[in-house]
Amino acid sequence: MINKSLKELGAMLQGKEISSVELTQEYLNRINRLNPEINAYITIDAEKSLAQAKHADALLADGKSTALTGLPIAQKDIFVAKGWRTTCGSKMLEKFIGPYDADVIERFDGVGAVNLGKTNMDEFAMGSSNETSYFGKVQNPWDRTRVPGGSSGGSAAAVAARLCAAATGTDTGGSIRQPASLCGLSGLKPTYGLTSRFGMIAFASSLDQSGPMARSCEDMALMMNVMTGFDERDSTSLNRPKEDYTRDLNKPLAGLKVGLPKEFFAEGLSADVAKVVQDAIAEYKKLGAEIVDISLPNTKLSIPVYYVLAPAEASSNLSRYDGVRYGHRAKEYTDLMDMYCKSRAEGFGAEVKRRILIGTYVLSAGYYDAYYLKAQQIRRLIAQDFENAFKQCDIIMGPTAPSTAFKAGEKADDPVAMYLQDIYTIAVNLAGLPGMSIPAGFTQSTDGKRLPVGLQVIGNYFDEARMLNVGHAYQQATDWHTQMPEGIE
Ligand code: GLN
Repeated sequence: MINKSLKELGAMLQGKEISSVELTQEYLNRINRLNPEINAYITIDAEKSLAQAKHADALLADGKSTALTGLPIAQKDIFVAKGWRTTCGSKMLEKFIGPYDADVIERFDGVGAVNLGKTNMDEFAMGSSNETSYFGKVQNPWDRTRVPGGSSGGSAAAVAARLCAAATGTDTGGSIRQPASLCGLSGLKPTYGLTSRFGMIAFASSLDQSGPMARSCEDMALMMNVMTGFDERDSTSLNRPKEDYTRDLNKPLAGLKVGLPKEFFAEGLSADVAKVVQDAIAEYKKLGAEIVDISLPNTKLSIPVYYVLAPAEASSNLSRYDGVRYGHRAKEYTDLMDMYCKSRAEGFGAEVKRRILIGTYVLSAGYYDAYYLKAQQIRRLIAQDFENAFKQCDIIMGPTAPSTAFKAGEKADDPVAMYLQDIYTIAVNLAGLPGMSIPAGFTQSTDGKRLPVGLQVIGNYFDEARMLNVGHAYQQATDWHTQMPEGIE
């Protein structure tokens, strides 16, 4: 049962082979057993989840169900959910109870899906290893001594360990794709503006986007059908006709032009990851794809640009946590200024503080032109690189991350090494393009563990249906995405 896809579980619910209450209970039992170690969830509320499951069973009985009705889905703890504790991985929001639903939560509730719980994440989505969470690190189910990636590491570990049927994530610089790569699952960051940011706690608003994390592209297509759509409460939400993301899943790939950027296969990419990615590309050739060599010349500038722009936006977004309206407030203080300072000093962790300091610095008078404005100009050049590339190819492929999962603690004291995890993913956010990671094989660690490798697939704006087709064709031809870590039975 736990290995079934959303589609298969949906069919079992429709066929009355199982009820949503039974299915939800089965996952809750697994969470009780495995989560104390894996730590993929921050908050579980069995009563709430089971009440939703009961409601779903009524919809199923009345013939009012759709594809995701009754399916247990884990929600990254960045989405505000009514009545649920919503922490964003921070002490600042340790006791915050959501007063309303984020648009994404509302959409899943609207089709009768079950919220199985809130997943662990790097504090305010800042990180690539889940080690910055106030609620403790998350284990990678493939090797418990390694990180699951971040910032959606809880969602990734939950999907990989079969502690949910699928999960949501958010991606500002790679936070859906990199953990999907490190945990051996499929993750998609849509074109900026396709999913609403309403109720999704803001990190860097011009980059943040939510998306599905699941075991297959077919499952992600079903989730995209629910998650996307115009929302007038988000000023950057796009008003476009609703799409069916399953529509092209079974198209043949013959004639597909796949661009390989030379900058993605250069220094910094580990040799065993490169080998897996090359094998995946060979498989695509067999499926009829044509390979084109392309260049994204400004790739190396994407990390420095991101670490000016994202902290700038974060410093502004996080100014709302001042201890006045909500969030942590220091117990003792002398005056208002002291209360602000102590509340923020106590409530935020080290990485968040580092970003606030950098962001405030680059936005300050005298430095604005030198850093922030310059970074915005280079952001434009990075977007133009992709514009040029898509004149030569339909889709871009390469590695998702430069390495497989690393050991917990290995990069925790070296922010620059940590930031380099996103060297292949960040440019996609800067350009607002859709990007996806799918399981492409394994490497062997020195201690004999199999570690998953992700293939990144980057599409042109609004080309998600084609990307899912590209991923699905590969998943029909290979079985990397169905493999399960040992010891989670
Ligand atoms: N790892 C990057 C960061 O720390 C990206 C995080 C994300 O996509 N939320 O900012």
